Amino acid sequence: MSLPAPTQGDVAYYDAFPVERKDVVDVHLHYSSEKGFVEKLLKEMDGAGVKVACLISSGPDCDEKEEAEWRAIFKDFGDRIFGLGLFKPGRCGYEVVDGYYSKGFKGLKAIEPKKPYDEDEYLRYYERAEEYGMPILFHTGVVARGSTREREDVSSGYMRPIHLDRIARWCPKLKIIAAHMGDPWFSEAYNTSQKNPNMWLDISGKGIWLKASAIREHLWIRLRPEKLLFGLDEPPTQYRRIVHAWETILYEMGISQEQRDMVFSGTARRVLSL
Ligand SMILES: [Zn+2]
Repeated sequence: MSLPAPTQGDVAYYDAFPVERKDVVDVHLHYSSEKGFVEKLLKEMDGAGVKVACLISSGPDCDEKEEAEWRAIFKDFGDRIFGLGLFKPGRCGYEVVDGYYSKGFKGLKAIEPKKPYDEDEYLRYYERAEEYGMPILFHTGVVARGSTREREDVSSGYMRPIHLDRIARWCPKLKIIAAHMGDPWFSEAYNTSQKNPNMWLDISGKGIWLKASAIREHLWIRLRPEKLLFGLDEPPTQYRRIVHAWETILYEMGISQEQRDMVFSGTARRVLSL
């Protein structure tokens, strides 16, 4: 009597080798005032297969040079660069959302609120963004110091992922991205996003080792690959290295080609309506 033929489940099994990425969407990149930044960015994007990058402005009161660059970006590279207007809740008027929208920004980046992100008085910003269909990328997690010498009124605790829970429920059509998966509050970020279908997580920033280990620990219990979005949050010269690192890590975790395609671009295209 012969044994039944083995199935894939009976042997150590790896998906097909990853192939070079040709369609990456980056949801987290910062504007730089460095000369020739946009040209260099587009060159690096082309070299790493990055089709679209979400570029974050320096703030609502940026200088004339940056204003002019944004006008040029929206005119010439609207299909490659998705503008995110940075604002700090409680530190600027509600009209900041209308202002960004009228200039051509398609989304917002929130950071360093005066009080926790989900304060009553901040809901107006989010309601306005929801009406315009502008997704908001929220910085979540411990934030870098602006200055180590000057007094600063900033608390990383106000940017814990749990503060996005109320916003996601209050604005059910608002698309929310929690940057850095809430580093170091990974469990909190995963659990909050699991309960809210309008909330995703970007894998951007340093500490890739710890982020990968948190993903591996929570995967299939509190987290699915469909919730993760590729983001850089480093200079564009780092695209190739970081895309390669995450591709390898996610592949080794057994995340399939199809699911990795979603992390690198598919889900972002849906969230950003590209
Ligand atoms: Zn950032």
